[in-house]
Amino acid sequence: MSTGFYWDERCFWHTGGNYALTMPVGGLVQPMAAGGLPEHPETKRRLRNLMEVTGITADLEMRHAPAASDDDLLRVHPAPYLSTFKEMSEAGGGELGLRTPFAKDGYEIARLSAGLAIRAVEDVLRGSVANAYALSRPPGHHCLPDWPNGFCLLANIALAVEAAQAKGLAGRIAVVDWDVHHGNGTEQIFYDRDDVLTISVHQEYNYPLDTGDITDRGRGKGLGFNINVPLPPGVGHVGYLEAMERIVRPALDRFQPELIIVACGFDAGIFDPIARMLCTAQTFGLMTRQMMDAAEAHCDGKLVMVHEGGYSEAYVPFCGHRVLEELSGSDRRAPDPMAATVATRQPNAQADTFIRGLIGEMAAVLLSDPPAAPPPDRA
Ligand code: ZN
Repeated sequence: MSTGFYWDERCFWHTGGNYALTMPVGGLVQPMAAGGLPEHPETKRRLRNLMEVTGITADLEMRHAPAASDDDLLRVHPAPYLSTFKEMSEAGGGELGLRTPFAKDGYEIARLSAGLAIRAVEDVLRGSVANAYALSRPPGHHCLPDWPNGFCLLANIALAVEAAQAKGLAGRIAVVDWDVHHGNGTEQIFYDRDDVLTISVHQEYNYPLDTGDITDRGRGKGLGFNINVPLPPGVGHVGYLEAMERIVRPALDRFQPELIIVACGFDAGIFDPIARMLCTAQTFGLMTRQMMDAAEAHCDGKLVMVHEGGYSEAYVPFCGHRVLEELSGSDRRAPDPMAATVATRQPNAQADTFIRGLIGEMAAVLLSDPPAAPPPDRA
């Protein structure tokens, strides 16, 4: 069984709006490489390029996917939001929320991006691939049903979860968000639900500034099914692995998911321009292994990575490639050219001891409630 890789060239053509010489971007006019926003195509495109050069594509099932359908979209987003987005996109682009500018065709490209996540999840659940990676762009984890924000125009992962459940492919789905920013959109969409466990490990007080608190645990029957792990700036390799091992894994063990989706951002990477964490390509590889072990224990290895943020044009490709090596077992490698440098730019032992203590305190709070009973057929 292989690893599926879902991508679409047009996802690299989404833009916050710029021009190629004096030609408005859209249709067959591709955006210029550098836009004004950190969310630009090069981080993702260069991952795709690196895959071509190492040849790892030969060890993956390279797949495209149809755009998210209206039925898919309406499970999460209200019709007026979608129609306004579509009209504005056709008219040349604009801004519907906070830091989510889009150009002509932005709506169609966002639907393609969501479609990659939807199809990746569906293929894994149907067993046509063992696990999968969706190179979605624009990203999705900040997007609320009617309010896009933080570069996210459609709620890619939430759309994939809803589509899978609507088709009867899975019941209990866990979303582990290791993008450095809080997964506020995914959290809100499933805040009242006990069939979707949402976990976000993020830099405290980054974006959004006012969400992602450890006390936000869900509501009603969803209480206990939302977990926030806000980490202080400067957490590195050791701290991230510790958070995954001591909080994320036990929470997954308690929930017993039928599928694990990772909101796979690389902006906790050491070179990211808009965050302040110190993860390395090796960190992302080992976290992938941790998620594979959890998926193996609970759901026959069913694991889907959906690409979110990550804004270091130079470093993201190596982090992404490392994840793909782990997922697929491929021996075609893209060794981290900065490995020696990043290994020595980590917090010292004293700082690691502090962060281990903090994570231990958070684990005690987050895992202290009586475990949610598994459904009868999985007890
Ligand atoms: Zn992010």
